[in-house]
Amino acid sequence: MKKFFLGTTLLSMAIFLLSACGGQEETSGNSEDKLQVVTSFTIIADMAKEIGGDDVEIHNLVPTGTDPHEYEPLPEDIKKATDADVLFYNGLNLEGGKAGWFFKMIDSVGQKKENIYSLTERVKPMYLAGKDGKDEEINPHAFIDPAVGIVMAEDMRDALMEVDPDHKEGYKERGDEYVERLKEINQEYEEKLGALPEKDKILVTSERAFQYLADHFGLKEAFIWEIDTEENGSPEQIKNLVSYIKDHNVPTLFVESNVDTRPMETVSSETGVEIYEKPIYSDEIGKPGEEVDTYVKYLNYNIQILTDGLTR
Ligand SMILES: [Zn+2]
Repeated sequence: MKKFFLGTTLLSMAIFLLSACGGQEETSGNSEDKLQVVTSFTIIADMAKEIGGDDVEIHNLVPTGTDPHEYEPLPEDIKKATDADVLFYNGLNLEGGKAGWFFKMIDSVGQKKENIYSLTERVKPMYLAGKDGKDEEINPHAFIDPAVGIVMAEDMRDALMEVDPDHKEGYKERGDEYVERLKEINQEYEEKLGALPEKDKILVTSERAFQYLADHFGLKEAFIWEIDTEENGSPEQIKNLVSYIKDHNVPTLFVESNVDTRPMETVSSETGVEIYEKPIYSDEIGKPGEEVDTYVKYLNYNIQILTDGLTR
C-alpha cells in the first residue's frame, strides 16, 4: 500500500486522488489492502493492534516465552519483513542493538530505512552498571514504565498516520484514545506507588528490568542479574542479593514470568523473605486468552501486585 504511493510521482498521485474522490468509502476487508506491519515483540504487537485496528495486518517476530534480546528469525519472519510496509521495534538495544538479530534481519531482506521505526527515540536511555561498574550497556526495558508506554504509543500513532495517510483518521482516533488510557494508568501508578511508605519502596526482581519504573516512581531496586543475556543466578550474584536483603527491610521478592525461578527460591530460603505468589511481567505479555494478554492488562496487573506485595 505504502509502496504504491511512494512509487508514484506527485502528478500521478494527484490524478489518483482526484479520481478517488468519488465519495464512496473504500471497501476494506481484503488483507492485501491492509497496511502490512511487522513488530519485534509482543508489547509492540499489542500496541499496533490497538492503534492500527482493522487497517493493519500484523506479523509479530518474538513470541511470548522467547527472549527478545536474542532471537533467530524464522523463514516466515523473513518473508513478512521483506514484504512489510512498516516495521516497529523497541530500540534501546532490546533487539540486541545495531549488531543484533533485528538489524541483521533487516539488512538481509533489504528493507528501506524509512520503513523502520524505533519507538524509543524520545526516551532517555538508562544504563546498566556492567562488569567493571562503568555505565556501558543500555537497559532496554523502558516500556515497563507506563510513562514510556505513552511515548511509544504516540510515536506509533504518528508513524502510522504518516505511512498510511488514507487511514489517518482511524489511527488518530484509536491512537488518541489509547494514549488517554495509558495516561490514566500512569496516574494510577503515581498515586499508588507514591502512597507507599518509604520503608516498603524496595523492588526485588531476578533481572534488573525495572530500572526505568524504579527511577520514575522513586523505588530502590535490587536484583540477581543485570540482564538476561549475562549469567543468570551465579553463586556470587545470589550472595550479593542475599547480603543486600539482610541489610534492608525487603517486604517481598518478585519473580518475572519469563525467568528460571530457582535462583530467587535460593535467595528466599537464605533470607526468609517470601516470593510473591504470582509472577511479575517484564519482557512480554501473555499468550492470547491468558490473564495478561494485552499491554494495558500488563500495566494494570503489575501495579496491582506491586502495591499488594510491597505493603506486606
Ligand atoms: Zn529482559
